[in-house]
Parts: sequence; structure tokens; C-alpha cells
Amino acid sequence: MNEDLHQEIKSNKQYNPQMHSAEHILNQTMVRMFNCGRSFSNHIEKKKSKCDYHFNRNLTEEEIKLINIKVNEVIQQDLIVREEFYTKEEAREKFNLSKLPDDAGEKVRVINIGEYDACPCSGLHVTHTNEIGNFKIISTDFKENVLRIRFKLQIE
Ligand SMILES: [Zn+2]
Repeated sequence: MNEDLHQEIKSNKQYNPQMHSAEHILNQTMVRMFNCGRSFSNHIEKKKSKCDYHFNRNLTEEEIKLINIKVNEVIQQDLIVREEFYTKEEAREKFNLSKLPDDAGEKVRVINIGEYDACPCSGLHVTHTNEIGNFKIISTDFKENVLRIRFKLQIE
């Protein structure tokens, strides 16, 4: 993997592996529930985070509840988070690599969250999902075909 990027992430105190791992699970949950893409833009911080999705409306209260339930179910299953390496060619067949930097090496690192999610990523993650804590959506809003989801974690 890209060691420089790894170092850069490690030295950034704002970077929160719990929050970032929750983002992976939220993205997969959104894809499964709404058949939308993963978030195209996000801001991940320890206190609260936000993810933006290409969408056509805001979410209902019922949908927000369902997302909270689903994400927490995955967290509570205490799935193992593991990395796997693919060649670029293999990865291109399975994943959307448009977010991968051009100078990324020949090997693509993919993060697997149990059997629930697999996504190319060079960030830092928890090793088991129950390290994430309790996931809760704070608010959502919808503007110009972008759905924004703000969420927080409560570590028990
Ligand atoms: Zn990641």
C-alpha cells in the first residue's frame, strides 16, 4: 500500500478509525437499501461526520430509523475488518476505482467488513466492528440532488 499516505493519515489527529469504519458500513447500507452509489463526498471527524449521496429526495423518519437499526446490527455482529490486496486489473472488475489516486501502486488495498462490505481504501479502520460503538443519524437534508447524512457515534 501507499506508505506515505498511511503515515499522513496516522499523523492527522482528527482522523478517527471508528468514524471512518462506520462510514464504510453506512455506505454499504445505503447501497443495499436505496440502490444509490456510495457517498461521493464526506467529512469524517471524531465528534460528528457527514456523508453526501447523489439522491432524488430527503429520507423519511422511518427510513432514518431503519438505517440506524441496520448499521447497528452490523456493528453488533462484531464482524472482522481485514485488508486484502488485488492487482489493479482484478480490482477494476469488482470495484469503482474512480476515487483511487492516479499514482496509487499496482496493488489495490480492499477493506472487507465481514461479508457485508468490500471497498478499496487506504485509510485506517477498526479491527472488529464492535469497536465502533452505537451509530446514530443526527440529521439529514436534501438540496440539488444531494442527500446529506450527519451522524455520530456513542462509544459505550
Ligand atoms: Zn476506509
